[in-house]
Amino acid sequence: MLTVANQKGGVGKTTTTVNIAAALAQGGLRVLVIDIDPQGNASTALDIDHHPEVPSIYDVVVDGDPLASVLQECPQVPGLWCAPATIDLAGAEIELVSLVAREMRLKNALEAHLAGLSATERFDYVLIDCPPSLGLLTVNAFVAASEVFIPIQCEYYALEGLTQLLKNIELIRVHLNQRLHVSTILMTMYDARTRLSAQVADEVRAHFSAEVLKTAVPRSVRISEAPSHGQTVMTYDPASSGALSYYDAAVELAAGRSVGDHS
Ligand code: ADP
Ligand code: MG
Repeated sequence: MLTVANQKGGVGKTTTTVNIAAALAQGGLRVLVIDIDPQGNASTALDIDHHPEVPSIYDVVVDGDPLASVLQECPQVPGLWCAPATIDLAGAEIELVSLVAREMRLKNALEAHLAGLSATERFDYVLIDCPPSLGLLTVNAFVAASEVFIPIQCEYYALEGLTQLLKNIELIRVHLNQRLHVSTILMTMYDARTRLSAQVADEVRAHFSAEVLKTAVPRSVRISEAPSHGQTVMTYDPASSGALSYYDAAVELAAGRSVGDHS
């Protein structure tokens, strides 16, 4: 279970979530994407209906509805499921403040759902797409997952804010979720023509040698076009450099893990 987080906006959280999820599902795994960003971009990219009347992760986190009541399967990628976010979720950050167990609500819903699944229904991966903030929705994601997956955009300000993110993860680890750790870092929007991209990548690798995936995702027009067609780049243009690099990143992510290990 991975939370895809970075409080900076536009660094590739959503793009990474949906494309890694699609790549894993295309490889035959069962994958669940939880869209916990009120903007609902992951839901859009997976072609999941998320207009305001659709049952969504808001109903789960705020009203305590069962997760099963909001799940939809991605039409293009069998085995890839999504709990969509609607605009309702924009109010959840404030509504959660006064609720019981406000940091645990996603975790409780997920655990209840996963515990009731049969062997064939089990998910191999759960990926949570976070909003660009460190508010209660992101805290819920950190409490629910054991791993943090950080996409880092290869540009000058990339490392600013990373310290803050790591501090918050440490706070959550100490107070709310002992298992939480940064397991994976992916360099995104890498531009091989610029020295800056290489410098940022080198610096990140120097700090996090074990966690950074060898694959860096290049800047690719096909990646940015895919969501407007309600698709991930994995189905929109599977032979493009962007799709191939997300495929490689997914293989790296999955390497060394045994499928069906739900510990
Ligand atoms: P976040 O979820 O962190 O806010 P997004 O995944 O939505 O970031 O990405 C921000 C913007 O950058 C989107 O318009 C997306 O299509 C585009 N984008 C993301 N990754 C790439 C890439 N590798 N190449 C080109 N555009 C990208
Ligand atoms: Mg996003």
